[in-house]
Amino acid sequence: MATYTAPINDMMFLFEKLRDNKHYNDLEKYKEVNTDLAKDILEQAAKITENLILPLAKIGDENPTKLENGVVITPPGYKEAYKKFIQDGWTSLSCDPKYGGQGMPKTISAFFDEMLSSASLSFKLYSELSIGAYNCILHNGTDSIKKKFLPNMVEGIWSGTMCLTEPVCGTDLGLLKTKATEQPDGTFKLTGQKIFITSGDHDLTENIIHLVLARVADAPDGTKGISLFLVPKIQVKEDGSLGSRNGVSTGSVESKMGIKGSATCVLNFDEAAGYMIGPKNKGLSSMFTMMNLERIVVGIQGLGISEIAYQNALNYSRERKQGKSNNSKSINGADVIIDHADIRRSLLNMKSVIEGERALSFWLAQQTEVSLHHNDSKIKQQASDLVALITPVVKSLFTDMGMEITSDAMQIFGGYGYTKDQGMERLYRDNRITPIYEGTNSVQAIDLVFRKLVNENRNIIGSYIQLIKEEVKKNKKNNETKLFAETLNNYLKKLIDFTDWIEKSIKSSKDDVSAACNDYLKVLGLVAVGYSWLKVLDISYKEIKNNKEFFEDKIETAKFFFDRVLPRIDTHYKSGISGSKNIMNFKFN
Ligand SMILES: Cc1cc2nc3c(=O)[nH]c(=O)nc-3n(C[C@H](O)[C@H](O)[C@H](O)COP(=O)(O)OP(=O)(O)OC[C@H]3O[C@@H](n4cnc5c(N)ncnc54)[C@H](O)[C@@H]3O)c2cc1C
Repeated sequence: MATYTAPINDMMFLFEKLRDNKHYNDLEKYKEVNTDLAKDILEQAAKITENLILPLAKIGDENPTKLENGVVITPPGYKEAYKKFIQDGWTSLSCDPKYGGQGMPKTISAFFDEMLSSASLSFKLYSELSIGAYNCILHNGTDSIKKKFLPNMVEGIWSGTMCLTEPVCGTDLGLLKTKATEQPDGTFKLTGQKIFITSGDHDLTENIIHLVLARVADAPDGTKGISLFLVPKIQVKEDGSLGSRNGVSTGSVESKMGIKGSATCVLNFDEAAGYMIGPKNKGLSSMFTMMNLERIVVGIQGLGISEIAYQNALNYSRERKQGKSNNSKSINGADVIIDHADIRRSLLNMKSVIEGERALSFWLAQQTEVSLHHNDSKIKQQASDLVALITPVVKSLFTDMGMEITSDAMQIFGGYGYTKDQGMERLYRDNRITPIYEGTNSVQAIDLVFRKLVNENRNIIGSYIQLIKEEVKKNKKNNETKLFAETLNNYLKKLIDFTDWIEKSIKSSKDDVSAACNDYLKVLGLVAVGYSWLKVLDISYKEIKNNKEFFEDKIETAKFFFDRVLPRIDTHYKSGISGSKNIMNFKFN
């Protein structure tokens, strides 16, 4: 079984030294969240993820969720663990105290998301979608809906889902068919089928609150005619107590490649009673409050799975003996494989990507809080633009790198990685969904290039590039970081050239641009991680006297990233700007 130790040291380093967003630090509501409190929470979080949740990963993989006599049964141990999980208040960590939450910022909850993803993504998904549904209701629901549904969701005794996908409607939500018919009392009856619904049904909570996209009778075609509805599995009476079963049933539970402990359900809505959330025909924008935050969390899933894969590969490479290394001192027998240059390269590749991603994710958590809570509307908008720009990058880059890292970690185990005992192949299988759900990574890249670079004449990519230029300028003046700053600047120029190319090409050939989106996202993502590393380097050189071992490790890891990972930008840039003529004219026989 894979082992796991939560990387609290690295998380606390970020929390203490990289909390550098002035506007985040101005947020009154988070002034009391100091280092001691953060450390205490992360230590408790580490305990529950390492001891209670990690063992569920293997159990869930070997005993998938099943449907028996219309009831969805989770793997052995899930019920007991979930009970403890909610008793200890983990579902309420980042929720509003008004509804029973603890009001912790995303700078803390993102670390917990990472730990949970490392320990068991399947188990995590039961509470993750609830938090997503909570956020959507919080931002779009009326006061009475919030009062009726949120406290139990925050407590974790009710869970939530997000029901978009239908058999013929995945990426293109404009095709969705589920119907909502208005009733004389202003409620609705929903009829239709939703598929692939995460935590669509299960035995962990008393009730499940579905957020469902559907069309009302006179709705226009396409995405302009979609509304959002809250549909409880069990109806809730006016006094908040549970009533009769609603018209929602589980058609089946999917059999999947990975995350087998997570219930992925076909849900049939048959005249199910529901309430409209937000304005009529504006359901997609209401749902997007949930989806945008959720996309960041999916990126963090990729990061968490990468971390546990790396930890296990590192441990194994210290024990497994094979062959003699170039500098071998052993006379008889073989060296441990960590002595081989290629294994060291592979491990450093993982480590440098993971720590850089964690720093970027922490930056994004600060921006997200500013975008949600700052009093100044201009500052709020600027943060919101940056969050919109970097969300698809985090979602796609982290999950794609998760595939590379879980595959490389499996490789370090050799044949033992491919067989089941060590748990490495499960990490690869579990991670494989992350580039697919919450909008596929290719669709994220398209969204980034066609919709996020410029918005209502605000040059968002320009503002982001400006931030990086300032960091580069500052670090060029420092002898220790100068070379790193110059290297990042060279790659930043590639990003600028690529952005100019897109701006020009979009006028002549949309196919050229569409075919370049994935490469562009990678270039922006690698520059963004490089930018995070430059900040880490700046601090590391200043602080090295206080903790030599920790900061030397950071500096040496960063060197690898700058020498061996950033150069991938050259290939992506060259490939991206090569056009689409051959691609579009090719005849697939
Ligand atoms: C385990 C699991 C859990 C899930 N959980 C949920 C859930 O809780 N709620 C929910 O509503 N859904 C959920 N989904 C559905 C998931 O979000 C969709 O599968 C995903 O968005 C892709 O939709 P699709 O499968 O219909 O693929 P399609 O949309 O058919 O896409 C097929 C391929 O075409 C590409 N493509 C599509 N459109 C374009 C385009 N315009 N340009 C270029 N390429 C394009 C895609 O990138 C993809 O490679 C889940 C799915 C799984 C497998």
